[in-house]
Amino acid sequence: MVAEASVAVSRHRDSCICRAWQWQWLKRDSQHTPLALAIMATCGSNCCDGDFDKDDVTTRTIESCLPFPLPDEILEDIVPKAKDFALLHGAGMRYKNKYDADTLQFAPFFLLPSGFPRREFERVVKLQPIINILMHKIAHDHEFLRSALEKTIKVDEFTRRLWDIYTTVREEGVAQWISLGMFRCDYFYSVPSQIAQQVEINTVASSFGALAARISLMHRYVLGELRKPELLSHLPENDALAGLCGGMISAWDAYGCPKAVILFVVEDVTYNICDQRFHEYEIRRQRPDIHVIRRSLTQIGQQGHLTSDKRLIITCAPAVSDYESCPAYVVLFRAGYEPGQYHTEAEWEARLTVERSKAIKSPSIQYHLAGTKKVQQEIARPGILKKFLSDSEAKLVSQLFTGLYTLDMSPEGDQAVQMAVENPERFVLKPQREGGGNNVYGEEIRTVLEKIRDSKEREAYILMDRIRPPIQQNYLVRAHQAATLVEVVSELGIFGTILGNAKDIQSSKFAGHMLRTKLSSVNEGGVAAGLGALDSVFLFD
Ligand code: ADP
Ligand code: MG
Repeated sequence: MVAEASVAVSRHRDSCICRAWQWQWLKRDSQHTPLALAIMATCGSNCCDGDFDKDDVTTRTIESCLPFPLPDEILEDIVPKAKDFALLHGAGMRYKNKYDADTLQFAPFFLLPSGFPRREFERVVKLQPIINILMHKIAHDHEFLRSALEKTIKVDEFTRRLWDIYTTVREEGVAQWISLGMFRCDYFYSVPSQIAQQVEINTVASSFGALAARISLMHRYVLGELRKPELLSHLPENDALAGLCGGMISAWDAYGCPKAVILFVVEDVTYNICDQRFHEYEIRRQRPDIHVIRRSLTQIGQQGHLTSDKRLIITCAPAVSDYESCPAYVVLFRAGYEPGQYHTEAEWEARLTVERSKAIKSPSIQYHLAGTKKVQQEIARPGILKKFLSDSEAKLVSQLFTGLYTLDMSPEGDQAVQMAVENPERFVLKPQREGGGNNVYGEEIRTVLEKIRDSKEREAYILMDRIRPPIQQNYLVRAHQAATLVEVVSELGIFGTILGNAKDIQSSKFAGHMLRTKLSSVNEGGVAAGLGALDSVFLFD
C-alpha cells in the first residue's frame, strides 16, 4: 500500500493531478489509508492549480467504474455496439456544421457511467421539491423580483425586455395565474467542501431529459455486454422524460379542454431534435388525446392571436389537427431564452402575446425572471431563504450554495471586484445569459472587470466562486472519431416539476436527472460544441 502511495504521490507531483485509486473521504474519515495520508501530506495550500484554499488537502480524482485503460480488443468490440445502441435508441442530434433535416448522428457520449457520490445524489434529489417551491415563491414575490433586478434591467437590455413583458402583463391583469415549472438544477460535487454545490437553476428550456434517459439505458447495455451485471445496481433509474411530460399533462388537465394543444416554442432550426421530439412522443404515449404543435417565435407572430377572452389561438394545418385553429393551453418554451432568438420586434410581440394569454406557460414570465443569474445571487444572501422556506428547509438549501457576489456599484460590489481582480482563478463571472458559452473565466475576468469597474455596466454581471469538481477518466465517443480516454468532470442536473398559482401549489415533484461530462481542461463543455458529452450516473458510497 505504501509503495502504491508513493507512486500516486510522485504521479501527483508530476502531473499536478492528485490521484488515488479509491475515493477517500479524507476530511471526514478517521480511518485514512496510507495512500490518503501520503497524498494529504503532499497537497498543501498550493495544491494542483495553486488556487485552492489553504485547507484544501484532499484527493481530486474519482476511480472509474472499471479499471482503465480498457484492453484494445474490448474497446474495438464495445464502442461500435454502444454507438449503434445510441443511434437506434435515438440518442441523436442533427449535424451542426452541415445541417440536414434528414440525417441524424449520435450525440457525443461517454462510454461508461461516471462516478457521483450516492449521498450527495440522494441529497439533491430529496431537496428538489423544496427548490421548486422556493423558485415558485420567489417568482410570485413582486417586491423581491423588483428589488433584485432593478439595477440589472438598467444595464442589461435583454432582461429589461423580459421585465417589460412581466410588468405589462401585470398591469393589464394576469389572465393565467397558474405556472408550470420544469426546472433543472445543476450541480458539481465540490472537492474542497465535499458536498454537491449548485451551479445554477434553469427555469427555462431545461433540456436533455429525454436523452439522459436514453444514455442511462445505453450504459446498462454496455455494462451487460462487458459482463458486469453486478455493477447495474450503481445506476439509478432515470424517468426524466416521463416525469417532465407528466408535468405538462397535469397542466393540460388543469384546463381539460379537449381541443387544446400543447405548443412547443422552438428555435428556427432545432439541432437537439431527438430530445424535443421524445417529449412529444411521450405525451402521446401517456395521453393519445393530446396534440403537440411546434412553432418558432417568428411563426407565432404570423399564426397566433388572442381571442377577446385571451385564449391563444394558433393556425394549424387541418392535417395536424381536426381543428383549423388550435387553442394552446400549455406553452413550453424550448427557445426564447437568448437575445438571438428574437430577430425583430415581431418575435418580442409574439412573446408578449403568449404571456398575455390564458395558456399555462413553462416558464411563465415571472419564472423566467426568477431564473436569472442576478436573482440567484440575491437568493443566496444571508436570511433570504428564510423568507420563503422553513428554517430547516432554508438551512438544507443554503448548504447547496457556493459564494455568490453582487457587482453592484456599492462598497459590497467594490469589494467583490477587488477580490476577483486579485484572484480571478477562484471565480466565474456571469452575465444574465442562458445556453452556455457566455461566462468569463480566469485572466479574462481581470481584463473585463478592469475595463468596467467604474461603470454601471458591471451591474449586468454577478460573480460566483468557482466550484472544483473531482477529476475522473472516461472514454469520449464522438461521431467519426476514435474513442479517447480523457480526464473529465461531471455536472449533475436534477429535474423538478411544479404546478400552481400564487396561493396554491398543486404539485411539486422530483422528475429525474441527467449527467453531462466535459473535459477537465475546459471551462464549459457544451454537448453540441463537442467538448462535453452525455453521460449517466454511477453511484458510489
Ligand atoms: P448557462 O446558463 O450558460 O448554462 P451556467 O451558469 O450553467 O450558465 O454556466 C455554464 C457552464 O459553466 C456550467 O455548465 C459549468 O460547466 C460552468 N460553470 C458555471 N458556473 C460555475 C462555477 N461556479 N464553477 C465552475 N464551473 C462553473
Ligand atoms: Mg447551465
